[in-house]
Amino acid sequence: MAASYQIIDHVYDAVVVGAGGSGLRAAMGIAEAGLKTACITKVFPTRSHTVAAQGGIAASLGNMGPDHWTWHMYDTVKGSDWLGDQDAIEYLCREAPAAVYELEHFGVPFSRTEAGRIYQRPFGGMMQNMGAGPPAQRTCAAADRTGHAMLHALYQQSLKYATDFYIEYFAIDLIMVDGECRGVIAINMDDGSIHRFRSHKTVLATGGYGRCYFSATSAHTSTGDGGGMAIRAGVAMQDMEFVQFHPTGIYGAGVLITEGARGEGGYLTNASGERFMERYAPSAKDLASRDVVSRSMAMEMREGRGVGKEGDHINLHLNHIDPAVLHERLPGISETAKVFAGVDVTREPIPVTPTVHYNMGGIPTNYHGEVVTLKNGDPDAVVPGLFAVGEAACVSVHGANRLGSNSLIDLVVFGRATAHRIGETLKPGTPHAVVNSVADDFAIGRLDGFRHSKGASGTAEIRLAMQKTMQTNAAVFRTAEVLEEGTHKIDAVYQRMADIGIQDRSLVFNTDLIETLELDNMVGQAVLTIHIAKARHESRGAHMHEDYPNRDDENFMKHSLGWFRDGGVELAQRPVHAYTLTDEIEYIKPKARVY
Ligand SMILES: Cc1cc2nc3c(=O)[nH]c(=O)nc-3n(C[C@H](O)[C@H](O)[C@H](O)COP(=O)(O)OP(=O)(O)OC[C@H]3O[C@@H](n4cnc5c(N)ncnc54)[C@H](O)[C@@H]3O)c2cc1C
Repeated sequence: MAASYQIIDHVYDAVVVGAGGSGLRAAMGIAEAGLKTACITKVFPTRSHTVAAQGGIAASLGNMGPDHWTWHMYDTVKGSDWLGDQDAIEYLCREAPAAVYELEHFGVPFSRTEAGRIYQRPFGGMMQNMGAGPPAQRTCAAADRTGHAMLHALYQQSLKYATDFYIEYFAIDLIMVDGECRGVIAINMDDGSIHRFRSHKTVLATGGYGRCYFSATSAHTSTGDGGGMAIRAGVAMQDMEFVQFHPTGIYGAGVLITEGARGEGGYLTNASGERFMERYAPSAKDLASRDVVSRSMAMEMREGRGVGKEGDHINLHLNHIDPAVLHERLPGISETAKVFAGVDVTREPIPVTPTVHYNMGGIPTNYHGEVVTLKNGDPDAVVPGLFAVGEAACVSVHGANRLGSNSLIDLVVFGRATAHRIGETLKPGTPHAVVNSVADDFAIGRLDGFRHSKGASGTAEIRLAMQKTMQTNAAVFRTAEVLEEGTHKIDAVYQRMADIGIQDRSLVFNTDLIETLELDNMVGQAVLTIHIAKARHESRGAHMHEDYPNRDDENFMKHSLGWFRDGGVELAQRPVHAYTLTDEIEYIKPKARVY
């Protein structure tokens, strides 16, 4: 089948797929090691979702008060609800200060203290003295544009080290030969040409899969393409049930409305105008923690008290607040609500819904960025030639729940670690083995299949069915019944992929085709998310199971693994790394997680 397509060949030492914070940091480090490096990205690098990060990046610099990397480690372990791998968390927190100083030297314009040091703000769950408190000011910020500043600085650095960029190229599939990754096949979306990148090391840095949900704060390009490619390569995905929700994303658009809106006195109501949070959290009410508020909103909607024709959202009121206060303290929110919901916040409520914000799960790796999978009973078996970093990966430093500002630091610390590993294990110019065309045939055959598909279901239709299922059945609030129903619904969506039909047969700038490839990537991860969630009979971090409200360390302090075999889903568990890297810190033993 591949013969009908002309394939353009490229030969590299290493290829990075993705140009967000993690992909750029990996690419520049690999190029710096003298290796011939390509970076393939479906959007222009500085349009990657990392650009939208506002709050900041965590590192125990101690510029605003006492701090230590072991305190950061304690908070991250506790935040992960003891599901994070402690060797990787130690690496993250120990390396974080150096990674931030490196960004500073790369040109990130951090905000400053009066003494000229990097400014740091307090963030949720970040404490002093091994959790004892008071709060630590650990989150380094470049105003409210930290991700933007980082991404631009990293893009410039990668250019300095002569990385070859393939911009608006869409990676379709990995080239796998005998369980080893030998590169990637991509399509140039502009002219439809097909490209085969041979490489000894391939890094997936493709971001999260937030768009499998109806409402997500992430970019429309966050379709988990790396996860889709890894699944097709036979990798077992890890901890997919842990999806972080923010209570107030704008209904439909998913754009974030900051928690500060409720901080200024905003409140939530259901269809009958009731301030329902008083029932769920009598003292903190609308300012309870994110998981509690999101879960309460989901409960109202499931019980038929949601707002709107489909009862699928909640109202956020700011209209009782003095317009002068709104103008002064929430100007951004007022504008966002106008643009994305057509709402004048001084008069009407904003329609909001708990919105997917981050994927803790993903492609499992060790702290060198090497992808690991279950092989002959070994849960830490490395997949030769394959790496993953950033939100696409599950190192796992975030475990069951990520702390705010710990993702940006994850991107640069593990992007750098991956580059080091590749630099140490590969000699520039190492010759490539001859590859037979079976791997290409798989990628091209799949592309061709979608291109000529003539089924009855449109891409947008199947995507909507997937997104609504995920929003309803894999939400903040989960029960055995909801998850059981969810597995049937999502399996039916998965089956419908065989009945897809697309209109446009061209290869040139065919958005219908690209969206179909993205949907195919998402749907596998959607299926795994619900099946794995159903199997976790406990509540931990972001996975709140009504029928199993307690954490069960004996049976479930384990990573979940899920993969496909013969069209069906198989599940297993992988032990959490309950050891540290060095003897500078001991394993942090599980405790009840109270704040
Ligand atoms: C609104 C918002 C605010 C946030 N604020 C913060 C914050 O303040 N602090 C914090 O720590 N975290 C924050 N986060 C989380 C954090 O920003 C993300 O987890 C992180 O930026 C993800 O980076 P990444 O490198 O993994 O991928 P991304 O930045 O998502 O980039 C993915 C890259 O992969 C490429 N790609 C994907 N698929 C393909 C394909 N098939 N072919 C070729 N290229 C492909 C894309 O072109 C892109 O370059 C926020 C997230 C959101 C959504």
